[in-house]
Formats: sequence, structure tokens, C-alpha cells
Amino acid sequence: MRSVRGSAPQLANLVPYDPKYLPAEAFLSANENPHDVDQDIRHEIMREVKRLPLNRYPDPLANDLRDMIAEANGLDRDQVLVGNGGDELLFDMALAWGGPGRTFLNLPPTFSVYDNNARLTGTTVVDVPRCADYSIDEDAVLARVAQGDIDYLVVTSPNNPTGQLASEAFILKLLDCTDALVMVDEAYFEFSRQTMRPYLDRHKNLVILRTFSKAFSLAGVRMGYLLGDADVVREFAKVRQPYSVDAVSQAVARVVYRNRAKFEPGIRRIIEERARVIEGLRKIPGVKPFPSDANYVLFCMEDAARAWEALYARGILVRDLSRAPHLEGCLRVSIGAPQENDRFLSALRDIVMEKR
Ligand code: PMP
Repeated sequence: MRSVRGSAPQLANLVPYDPKYLPAEAFLSANENPHDVDQDIRHEIMREVKRLPLNRYPDPLANDLRDMIAEANGLDRDQVLVGNGGDELLFDMALAWGGPGRTFLNLPPTFSVYDNNARLTGTTVVDVPRCADYSIDEDAVLARVAQGDIDYLVVTSPNNPTGQLASEAFILKLLDCTDALVMVDEAYFEFSRQTMRPYLDRHKNLVILRTFSKAFSLAGVRMGYLLGDADVVREFAKVRQPYSVDAVSQAVARVVYRNRAKFEPGIRRIIEERARVIEGLRKIPGVKPFPSDANYVLFCMEDAARAWEALYARGILVRDLSRAPHLEGCLRVSIGAPQENDRFLSALRDIVMEKR
């Protein structure tokens, strides 16, 4: 058999994205919503999907959904773009603002997809690591951006996997001192209630990323969206795959978005449970949880990798970050249903006590 020519050189040190999804009884690793979409909404989805012509291509830009999102956010249709999950829009950003000779500023530890997309597209990556408490090193970021060579950056608020919000005052300063495209990734904003939306009208270089995967329980469907200046949105649209959001996903998302108020009690329950999980972690000797404004909590402890194994042996899957750069000794647990959170806390307590 003939051998195959090597792939593009920028792929050499990349590994495929791996969510480390393993079979488990309690899935607390992917920051999903523990409450699935309810039966009434499902019936409405079925009615809508039944009527879809499947032999026709979908509306390429999902304009009905764009209009709904635009109206809810006080924007025009051309200030909104939907994607196959927020992930697609993140990739589009690297295609549109990155590339050879272009530079991305990364604030690790943060969502690894940003760095990966930059490398995939041959973009230079400059790191400004976070402080020891995982807050953004604001002065260092502002100083680095002032050098003038940064083309785009992402401020993740709340940050994944560390959980904290970025300061609004800092983001505003950043927007004022650079013409780089600043994406504020608000994938978890429904759990933090803080958004940069009010500043969109005054800052052309601000774009906001949101997702249906978390608050709206739709990780399985793949739907994300972007809010921004119409000129910026048009650049994203240039690199976007023509039919990336299929007709079924568009229909599901329309129904869910129309019913979004019904997700509020579930979001409130997650926020209450988050406080309980943080408190529970604090009471376990040697375990240090970080504050969180999202639907997950980062915590560090001795022998974190062993604790991950022991949790998994008890049917509980959390995210092992203990060997990741800047996150040594850390695990991340998603907020689940109350009984899952109880099960996690009592298992971790047992694991720590057994070792003592
Ligand atoms: N941004 C952040 C910070 C995330 O954690 C995620 C999901 N893990 C995404 C964006 C993308 O979400 P999705 O593709 O499911 O919309």
C-alpha cells in the first residue's frame, strides 16, 4: 500500500479534542444541565419537527431563530449569528481573525478549544497566564495588548474551568485600549446573570458568545450564537459553513428559545445547589474549592488523580484536570441534581477519610 503524505505541519503537536466521556452513573464532568427538556416542550418540538420538509436544505442563516434572539436582546438580525454549538463560532473566529502572521492572546487556564483553534489555523498564540487565584492578570493583559500586535482574544466570563467572572471594568478598559476583536465568552452567563450586552452598542470590537448547551439543556442538539456589530458578524458569516445548523436543530432551538422562561426554575436550582456543593467541599479536610459563578466548581486537593479514580470507581465521573498546565491538583465537578451532588460529596468525603 502507498504511504500517505503528512497532514499540514501545524497539526503536528495537536491531539483531537477529547471530552473524556466515560460510562458512569453520575455524569458530573461536562457542565451539562442535569434537568432534561420537559415533556411539554418535547411535544411542541415533535409537532414542529414533524412539519419540516427534510428534502430541502435548511435556511442557511437560521433567520427565524436569529430574529427571536435579536429581539430578545434588543438587536437587529444582522447583529446575531447562530452556529453548530458555540464551538463552531469559536472555530470561525480563528478562521476569520487568525491565520499565519496573526496573533491570538490566550489567558490560561481557560477553555482549551481557543488555543487549539488558533494552532490549527496557523495563528501565533501568546499566553498571559492567570494569577494564582485564577483571576485575570489585568495589568499584564493590558500591557501586552498595548504592544499592538494582538488580533483577537477571548475573555471567558465565567471562566471554564476555574468558574469566576471577569471584571466588567477590566473588559471595558480592554475594549478601549485595543482594536483587537474581544470575544466575551458567556457560555455560562445564565448562571452568573452578568453580561456585556449593554456595552455592545458602544464597542464595535466586542462580540459575545452564548450557547443553548448549558442553561437550556440542549448540549445534545448543538446550538450556539454570537451577538456583535453587524460588520463583525458579516466577517464570521464569510467563513461559516453554509448549512452548519441543520433544520431539526433550528426547529428544536426555536421551540426551546420560545419557552426559555420555563428553564428559569431549573437554573435557580442549579445556582442554589452550587452554593451547597461549594460549602460541602469546604468542609472536607484538605479540599479547596474555588468560588464559582457557573454550573461547575473547580477544587484542588492532594492526590487529585487518585481521588478522580476513586470517584470513578464509585460511578461518579468528574473532570480530571490534575495534570493540565496551571491546574495541577485540580478536579472540576459539574453541578448535578441534588441527589447526584450528595452522592459526589459523600463519596469524596469517604475517599479523603479512608486515606487518613
Ligand atoms: N465556551 C465555553 C467556555 C465552554 O465551556 C463551552 C462548552 N464546553 C463552549 C464555549 C461551547 O459550547 P457548545 O459548543 O456546546 O455551544
